Amino acid sequence: MMGRIIDGKAIAAELREELRREVGELRSRHGLVPGLAVVLVGEDPASQVYVRGKERACAEVGVASFGHHLPESTTTGELLDLIGRLACDPAVHGILVQLPLPAGIDEAQVLLAIPPGKDADGFHPLNVGQLATGSPTFRPCTPWGVMHLLRKAGVDPKGKEAVVLGRSNIVGKPVAMMLLAAHATVTIVHSRTADLAAQVRRGDIVVAAVGRPRLVRGDWLKRGAVVIDVGINRLADGKLCGDVHFEEALPVVEAITPVPGGVGPMTIAMLVKNTVEGAKRQSGLVGPV
Ligand code: NDP
Repeated sequence: MMGRIIDGKAIAAELREELRREVGELRSRHGLVPGLAVVLVGEDPASQVYVRGKERACAEVGVASFGHHLPESTTTGELLDLIGRLACDPAVHGILVQLPLPAGIDEAQVLLAIPPGKDADGFHPLNVGQLATGSPTFRPCTPWGVMHLLRKAGVDPKGKEAVVLGRSNIVGKPVAMMLLAAHATVTIVHSRTADLAAQVRRGDIVVAAVGRPRLVRGDWLKRGAVVIDVGINRLADGKLCGDVHFEEALPVVEAITPVPGGVGPMTIAMLVKNTVEGAKRQSGLVGPV
């Protein structure tokens, strides 16, 4: 028996369609057009692709996007000035600074300067703290996308063993928080974990976010596990693959996300959702989050 493939592309498209309808209503009933400022510094080709995808998703849903593409030579001070202006701009409900920033820029200082109420990526320490203490406002997009995929695949983490590979601030740690909030028993593994395979084998739910092509082999997985593969790795032949060996995993698992077409499209859809929710909060129209 082969596992199900969780179609992130279709689930993300469905969410964008829901958001498009909601944004239409916000505009017609309240004259509100949610707006996202997208700040890109430098010429990193992968970042340029991500930023284009984000701007395209905004356009599809009817969210205004304000692109600020700055040269590599931009200083921390100049970037902070721009963020200060965007913070005061009533048309901007979400501010996204595409990471990674060029080496000369103080990333931590930049993330702190984004007002928590406009922090569409959910990386400000206040939003991180609210997630950790159980009252999230802006949630980080990739982990939130992972949780949305699990829900749409009919997987309830309650009481299950969840194993998260990776402990980064943008994926591993926050997705572990969200799984914990959803009542899973959570294990986080990383590069210093002893016997990775044995840990992963415990997982009813496995979320892989390490950035190592096909690290997780089929015989590392429990039969019937649900696998969400966050990894995006480019192989020598130019093709993309995940952190999980998809072909080996498929006959073992109950369900798995492909790469590409799994978590990637969800991340962008969640960013648009964050912007819409932010616009509602800032306008006093607080809806279901
Ligand atoms: P980071 O490089 O910040 O973190 C990687 C984590 O994996 C670290 O905690 C590291 O451990 C751990 N790790 C690395 N190698 C191993 C190994 N051999 N065994 C066990 N653990 C290991 O990556 P990110 O969290 O930013 O991203 C992870 C992956 O997800 C990447 O492929 C990235 O491209 C992708 N990604 C995809 C997104 C999407 O939208 N689909 C969004 C964001 C990221 P340690 O802490 O010990 O160093």
